[in-house]
Parts: sequence; C-alpha cells; structure tokens
Amino acid sequence: MSRYLREQFEEVDLTPGRGRLSAMVSLAFGMLAFTGSFCFLFPDWFTTPEFRALYSATWLRVALYAGIAVAFVAGFVSVLRHENRRYGLVGMLLACMAALFGSGQLDVPPVAGRSVYAGLDYFVLTLLVLGLVFIPLERAFAKDPAQKTLRKGWVTDMKYFLFSHVGLQLISFFTIIPIQVLLHDKVDIGFQQKIASLPLWVQFIGILVAVDFGTYWAHRAMHEIPALWKIHAVHHSSEQMDWLASSRLHLGEILVNRFLGYLPIFVLGFSPAAVYAYLVFISFHAIFIHANVRFRFPVLRWLIATPEFHHWHHSSEDEAVDKNYAAFLPVYDVLFGTVYMPDKLASTYGTRASTQVPEGVVKQFLFPFRRNRPA
Ligand SMILES: [Zn+2]
Repeated sequence: MSRYLREQFEEVDLTPGRGRLSAMVSLAFGMLAFTGSFCFLFPDWFTTPEFRALYSATWLRVALYAGIAVAFVAGFVSVLRHENRRYGLVGMLLACMAALFGSGQLDVPPVAGRSVYAGLDYFVLTLLVLGLVFIPLERAFAKDPAQKTLRKGWVTDMKYFLFSHVGLQLISFFTIIPIQVLLHDKVDIGFQQKIASLPLWVQFIGILVAVDFGTYWAHRAMHEIPALWKIHAVHHSSEQMDWLASSRLHLGEILVNRFLGYLPIFVLGFSPAAVYAYLVFISFHAIFIHANVRFRFPVLRWLIATPEFHHWHHSSEDEAVDKNYAAFLPVYDVLFGTVYMPDKLASTYGTRASTQVPEGVVKQFLFPFRRNRPA
C-alpha cells in the first residue's frame, strides 16, 4: 500500500494541461471531503471536544459541500484530459460518498463523558487551511522552484500529519494529564493568579520566553546525546524542505516536546486565552519556518526564527550542523553560542552520511531502537 502510494503519487509532474493537476485536486478534495463526512456521520467518535468550540457545524457543512463540488468538477476535467481516467473517477467517487455520508447531523452536542475519540475534524480542517495557505505561497515564492509540491517523502509526512492530529487525545494522555495529576497540588496559586492577571500580550511573550528556553535545551540535547539523536534524526531526514516536512516527528519527540512545552505553562499558570493564542500562533509558525519559501526578513531574522534561520538548522552543510536550535527566539542561540546565519540561504538538507534514516513511518519509528549495524 505504502509503496503503491509512493510510486503513484510522489514526484508527479503537475504541469497544467495534462489532467494531472485536476486529478490531484480531485483526489485531495475528495479524500478531505470523504474523511470530513465521517465527522457528520459519527460526530461523537470523530470530532474533538476542545476543537468543536472553534468552528460551527454550519461552517463545516459549507466547507464540506464546497470540497465535494471541487472534487467532482476537477475529477470530471481530469477524466477528459488525463491519459488514465481512474484518478478522476476515484476523485468523483469519493465526492459522491462524501455527499452520502455528510448528510448526517453534526449539530448534536458531544456525548458527555465519552472517553475515546479521534480528531478527524481537527485533521481535515487544519489540512484544508494549511494546504490552501502554503501550497500557493510555496508556488509563488519558492526558495527551490524545481521542488515539486508532491516531492519525495510527502506520503510519509502526510501520515505523520494525520497521526499528530487524529491522535491528539493519545498524545495529551501522555503529556498534559501526567503533569496535571502530579503537580496540581504543588503549584503556588497566588503566584499563578498574578501571572494570569497580566495583560494578554505580556503573558503571550512570557510563554514564548519560558517555553523556548526549555525547548532550546531539549533540542540541543537531542543533537548532542547519541541515543536521543536517533529519535530526532527522523525529523532531519527530509531532504527537501516544505510546510509538510514540519510534521515528520518521531512519536518520542512529540511526547517530549509537548511535555516540556506544557510544563512551564502549567506551573506558571498562564490564562487559557493566552495559552490558546500562543498555541495557534506557534503551530502556524513551526510550519512556516519549514516552508519552501525564499523570504529573508532584514532585521526580524535576528529576533524571531524565520525560514532562513531554521533551514540552516536542517542543512547538511558542515558549518551549519548543530546550529540554530531555537524554535522561536534566536537570542538563545546567540547567548549559548550556536547561531549560524551567513549571508546566503541553505541549499542541501538531510542527515549526514553517518546517520542513515530509513524511509516510511514504521521503519522510522523503529529506527532509534535498532542497533547500528557494523559497517
Ligand atoms: Zn534539530
């Protein structure tokens, strides 16, 4: 299955006029609509309680119908033009099934006390918004214009993206809940109230400074301690940088990062509004700094992490290795002597020859647990 997906859909040339672009649009929107329609069919199982507050069922339904229409029309165009009609036909079939399943009611409130759910709504809506923002942005301002939207490894990265969104509950179970259980009676309520009463923008900056300090050292440890490096090397194994490459993260790394990120937030007691604002902002920013874009921000690049700054972190060029650890504030790299920002953009990415990360989600998951084979 994986090999089939890779062979059919990686490195596809999407030059307009041959029915391939319309095939991909039809399949992408068909898959999104089909997946999204399950949120209507089984809202209790496939929608995220925390996320439901952020969108209305009406809005989701409009998005679903728009997705179905796009998938159907693009599929029809592809059937007319593509040398292989099956892609357009599959896109149209997905659109029809989405229309069938998506006629259910999402307006019912979530069942109280349910214990297991998968965040399909979170996955579909995030992917839709990110795809609509980043795919055109990378086409218009590509750092590497020859790089394809469906570049090598995108199928693997999409699986990581799916897991980190659908598996949100599982990830929270191992990160947020242990902190809440272990530390709830050990925090200083008076101090927390003072923090939560600060202006929102002050709290926002406070979270950035606090979380970034922890993640700087965690990230540095992952590069400098060999056993941890094998976990983090999975993230560095992408040889082409784009928005989707940001999602390639070993489960171990996701858990460590979420745990360390939530710890200062919980202990210091920032208000929920500040935390939500931070989460939305930093999630978007983390994707942006991986994007295949050529923007160089004159002064800003020393104040906040930009694609230029983080692309150097992913570079396999000798002088850039083990540099630029900060997720958001390069000042930590300046302070601790790991900054690298020459007057050019990075060009080659990936791990160096001493770390050979295999392809595919399962092999990459097992990679840190495998002994190095003797050369
Ligand atoms: Zn790294």
